[in-house]
Amino acid sequence: MRGLRQKVAIVTGAARGIGAATAQRLADEGVKVLLTDVLSAEGEAMAQLILDRGGEAAYAYLDVSDEANWERVVRSAVERFGAIHILVNNAGIGTLPDVEQETLDGFNRTIAINQVGVWLGMKYTIPQMRASGGGSIINISSIFGTVGGFGGSIAYHAAKGAVRLMTKNAAVRYAKENIRVNSVHPGFIDTPMISQVKDSSDPAMQQMMSTILGMTPMGRLGKPEEIAAMVAFLASDDAAFCTGAEFYVDGGWTAI
Ligand code: NAP
Repeated sequence: MRGLRQKVAIVTGAARGIGAATAQRLADEGVKVLLTDVLSAEGEAMAQLILDRGGEAAYAYLDVSDEANWERVVRSAVERFGAIHILVNNAGIGTLPDVEQETLDGFNRTIAINQVGVWLGMKYTIPQMRASGGGSIINISSIFGTVGGFGGSIAYHAAKGAVRLMTKNAAVRYAKENIRVNSVHPGFIDTPMISQVKDSSDPAMQQMMSTILGMTPMGRLGKPEEIAAMVAFLASDDAAFCTGAEFYVDGGWTAI
């Protein structure tokens, strides 16, 4: 894809799942990638894997809900790679409780990671993008940032819906500065996040899994690489006229 070679990206939640696949794909396109996560052993291993494949990568601990962490990581990324052009706000946690089951602590934790973390990422990287003459921010929302799903996961829906609208708000604010901001909305993707449903022996979870597949017109889970491909496109100059938009990679879920 055009314009990616020698660019610098921060990917959050990059130790595994969609973040790991995205870091690998960007590195394959010639991007220098700073992988970040709270799972440091797995994150270090992913960065090493990219280095072994001939890519350029490093790992740093980053809890996306912690403002001081963001300040430190952005500073060290610029010291190490000289600039920041791409931010993939991917880190997130999945939650299941519905309106009545959810606790205040649970709700606040989900918002802190899935929503506040995305805002902090934009806040601390945008000055660096401005200094580089522009950039691309890709915020990973969800189909559940747009539709009501199964009526559960209230905090997750709240946060992912906010990610969708923060994306549009920031896109409008920074369009004239050549900083593009888009959201990606995965359907159900085969990552550790959904293993609590997919690999459960609980009949209720097994029923949910077959409902998920039944509600996906393509009848299968997505692959992390299929989200990474969309992210790479949005990061690249091939998406030069895309901003404030929402991109669904969901096997047809939201078409119904
Ligand atoms: P995953 O396999 O659980 O990977 C997410 C990574 O983020 C994990 O390494 C996780 O570590 C890390 N993380 C959790 N809290 C963090 C924090 N405070 N700071 C930094 N990193 C943190 O999940 P995934 O399926 O790849 O999901 C990636 C993104 O896609 C998420 O935003 C998710 O909501 C979204 N998404 C996923 C699906 C799906 O079906 N998989 C569908 C729609 C949207 P821990 O293990 O410690 O939590």
